[in-house]
Amino acid sequence: MRITGGQVFDLKEGFVRRELCLDGGSIAGASADGKTYDAKGCYVIPGLTDVHFHGCQGADFSDGDPQGLQTMADYELRRGVTQICPAGMTLLEDQLTKICRMAAQHKKNSTSGAELVGVHLEGPFLSYAKKGAQNGDWLHKPDADMLKRLIDASDGLVKLVTVAAEEPGAMEFIERAREWVTVSLGHTTADYDTAMKAYELGASHATHLFNAMPPFTHRAPGVVGAAADSGHVRVELICDGVHIHPAVVRAVFKLFGAGRVVLISDSLRCTGMPDGQYPFGGQEIVLKGNRATLAHEPDTLAGSVTDLMGCVKTAAQFGIPLHDAVRAAAVNPAKAIGIFGRYGSLEPGKAANVAVLDENLELKDVIFRGKVL
Ligand SMILES: [Zn+2]
Repeated sequence: MRITGGQVFDLKEGFVRRELCLDGGSIAGASADGKTYDAKGCYVIPGLTDVHFHGCQGADFSDGDPQGLQTMADYELRRGVTQICPAGMTLLEDQLTKICRMAAQHKKNSTSGAELVGVHLEGPFLSYAKKGAQNGDWLHKPDADMLKRLIDASDGLVKLVTVAAEEPGAMEFIERAREWVTVSLGHTTADYDTAMKAYELGASHATHLFNAMPPFTHRAPGVVGAAADSGHVRVELICDGVHIHPAVVRAVFKLFGAGRVVLISDSLRCTGMPDGQYPFGGQEIVLKGNRATLAHEPDTLAGSVTDLMGCVKTAAQFGIPLHDAVRAAAVNPAKAIGIFGRYGSLEPGKAANVAVLDENLELKDVIFRGKVL
């Protein structure tokens, strides 16, 4: 298939008016089947990868329900998030093992929905003081042996783990875990020096920057300052319009550059659902409009109710150039979990997973494995 007339995302050149050829399930230099897709007036971008979301449409990855995971994969694909790396909450090891096994089974057996490319273990190696919406009863000290068991249970699908760098054993954990997965700092009270040490030992990511960590201040720059000073580190940013002020979104893109920001949705099960009360990792959350908070702590945000494609649009509305926003939601997340060889840009040889946005940045079509959905 030839996609014609659109502005095509090019990592180096920006948006370029050119044709994009798909051959079967891959992007190609030419197309043989004679089909065309008219993308006149549209932006043609790589399918997005969300490395930090919990659920949507009533389902949550942490439920361990295979049908729920399928519901999530189907919903995300319809929204142009063609690769998913769902995040598990803080749970007991039994339940984490169950969701890791479920992910491996899904990868093996599922025939529809977004491609499951990874699992993010956001819990349980976090700080009680910065647990946010995580269940404090189920937190666990950093434990590389447990992580290894979970990686094995997932058949190697675990790609990302979040850890609080100040917890006892965290530095040893990072030194071992970095050999297996991308290690992220988050839900942490770590100061600048502790975070710098963790980044020097091989951590390379920050989980939802600013949320569930000490603030960035002039005498105590914390994880934010350490991430900024560590050139290999990428930072997640929830761009739902609720978690981070627009000025801070702009400041982060300036400070880190568009190559180091990873947009995430951090979306909850009530994404795509009506207002109401919903279960969440052993707790309850209340959804009202675009805010989701803990039922017993109405000031604690529990996550977002915007999917990643919505976050790209929100970033653009906040003044981030569209090319930078797409880079942060397609290219950088794929690099962060080591799948950029196959996903995340529109070079020949990559998966033919493409989203088409109209001039108002509304999603017009999703092309998955070379077929228009
Ligand atoms: Zn979190």
